[in-house]
Amino acid sequence: MEKKISTYLFSCIIFFVALVLLSSPVTSQEVEDESEFDYNKYGERGPDRWGELKPEWSACSNGKMQSPIDLLNERVEVVSYLGRLKRSYKPSNATLKNRGHDMMLSFKSEAGSIEINGTEYELKQMHWHSPSEHTLDGFRFDLELHMVHESQDGRAAVVGIMYKIGRPDSFLLSLRDQLEKITGTSEKETPVGVIDPREVKIGSRKYYRYLGSLTTPPCTENVVWTIVRKVRTVTKEQVRLLRVAVHDDSNTNARPRQPINMRTVQLYRPNEKENY
Ligand SMILES: [Zn+2]
Repeated sequence: MEKKISTYLFSCIIFFVALVLLSSPVTSQEVEDESEFDYNKYGERGPDRWGELKPEWSACSNGKMQSPIDLLNERVEVVSYLGRLKRSYKPSNATLKNRGHDMMLSFKSEAGSIEINGTEYELKQMHWHSPSEHTLDGFRFDLELHMVHESQDGRAAVVGIMYKIGRPDSFLLSLRDQLEKITGTSEKETPVGVIDPREVKIGSRKYYRYLGSLTTPPCTENVVWTIVRKVRTVTKEQVRLLRVAVHDDSNTNARPRQPINMRTVQLYRPNEKENY
């Protein structure tokens, strides 16, 4: 009899554990209010402390596959089987939001998706970091765009594009008036009408692929990263506009590099047969 009860209790526990696991909210989302952490290296809310600030942010300290990383050339495995990045975006209504440490362009309705290994990830939002978070051979660039996508089952895939100072970026040029508008007010968000994500130029088929995490709390892992190999250009003024619009009196919103921990970084390069 006692054995039966304990078996029964055991089944109950398993059931509840399963229920909790299955009903836990999607955690691939970045936090919308970024005022609870900052980028001050020596501060109490700085990147080295993020994992201690909240239990649900513990991956920021304990995670073994955190982002960003350095995409060192000698660590990179050159492959062609990954195939070109399949993007099928469409114009959609968007809102520009000041999250406290960055400007985010958030899509209201379906803005299309990318496909990786047969899984579709829908474009949710994009935001900018300056300087870049990922580095190439130790070199940090001036700006990095993150296009954040999410699959139906809540997994995240981020496409990153790095920029150095040079000619203006046409996509940011098209957002200039809205960015200036939000800079001049204390408003946290402003509707920007229809935005076409296809206007974000990549300009190369080559990209780096690795498994990492969100670079802001909760630092959720198993994020599929795609970093475009080609470094594009942006003007100083465009980088400045993105920074001042945030009003956080900080010069940076780039998380320091994280240990690679034996992870492989792949570089997709098309076969010679496939022409540009
Ligand atoms: Zn980001």
